[in-house]
Amino acid sequence: LWEDVEMAPEDPILGVTLAYNKDTSAVKLNLGVGAYRTEEGKPFVLESVRKAEAILAADRSRNKEYLPITGLAAFNKLSRELILENDCPALVENRVATIQCLSGTGSLRVGADFLAAHYPNAAIYLPDPTWGNHKGIFPASGLCMKKYRYYNSQSRGLDIEGMIKDLKSAPSGSVVLLHGCAHNPTGVDPLPEQWEVIRQVIRDKGHLPFFDCAYQGFASGDLSQDAAAVRSFAGDGGELLIAQSFAKNMGLYGERVGALSVVCRSEVIAKKLESQVKIIIRKMYSSPPIHGASIVTTVLGDKELREEWMSELRGMANRIIQMRKQLYDALILRETPGDWSHILNQIGMFTYSGLNKEQVAVMTRDYHVYMTSNGRISMAGLSPSTVPHLADAIHAAVTG
Ligand code: PMP
Repeated sequence: LWEDVEMAPEDPILGVTLAYNKDTSAVKLNLGVGAYRTEEGKPFVLESVRKAEAILAADRSRNKEYLPITGLAAFNKLSRELILENDCPALVENRVATIQCLSGTGSLRVGADFLAAHYPNAAIYLPDPTWGNHKGIFPASGLCMKKYRYYNSQSRGLDIEGMIKDLKSAPSGSVVLLHGCAHNPTGVDPLPEQWEVIRQVIRDKGHLPFFDCAYQGFASGDLSQDAAAVRSFAGDGGELLIAQSFAKNMGLYGERVGALSVVCRSEVIAKKLESQVKIIIRKMYSSPPIHGASIVTTVLGDKELREEWMSELRGMANRIIQMRKQLYDALILRETPGDWSHILNQIGMFTYSGLNKEQVAVMTRDYHVYMTSNGRISMAGLSPSTVPHLADAIHAAVTG
């Protein structure tokens, strides 16, 4: 059996870590996967998370029973209140269905399966480029995938005209995937006034927005600022889907905790919809894991822990912003040819460096710097002590 099965290629992002792990060099640097590292390059567990875990461990009344299909109710409430505003009419009117899912990816996939079953004839439009896994998730649910223009490689900025044109020419009622903030991989987000134009076109055309929110608080350090785009859509009364992840902003990567929220027109619709999503989940994995959701619930539900978390989140976001400045300065110091101002201007965890596949290969071969071949650098994996090494590698790749 299975002799003819071909060996599948490694995932382009996770495969980078596998190659990194095999490298025995002392100076190796993993800037592939988007995971925050300490100044010493070690994985980081937030203090607020450690405290929440201690509280959970000390509570003998807790058990390991199954969660309901939709997950922990308190977690779902806190999650949607985090991404939306407390006085958001959709929350006040109880017309948001929230379902705990397996991190951001699981939330996107459950949302996609829901659309395939209950919104089946529309294609989903993805920004070009987008996070690689989007291109796997949506077709896996049977959705037809299209793209809209997003990034202008000349200006290294948003192609707002192309984007608006493509959204206008998409058939009415299409699903439009939007990155809530810190667009991955480009680090280019629309300005508030551009978001407003995008929102109007999407609503005028009767499109259905699907927000991927993997970086709330991680982009600017401010939870509200990073949720502003989603909140403007939720505030206009129309429908939208939201996939939330706590991987980055609470450092809960491996706990796989996230949520799918669907903002509906009425409470009755939200209830019916939730009942349908339950059927999808029951067949897929039955119910979500309890631990990560309990951590998030403990942190968000306790005033002091929540404040400590927000301060840690600001610390992580600021470190990344500082790394941008240090890398930029290091390239200027080396007089590395090119305009590197995009390193300063891009938002979030990644710098979309503009380095090509061959240059990345040189950096890996000669400097043991691991990153995705599209030139995306995870700034969260960088620290003051490793910036000079990265700058040397970029300089060599560009001038070599
Ligand atoms: N969407 C985007 C744009 C991402 O960058 C990520 C994380 N790399 C995710 C979703 C989801 O990640 P996770 O499943 O780990 O929450």
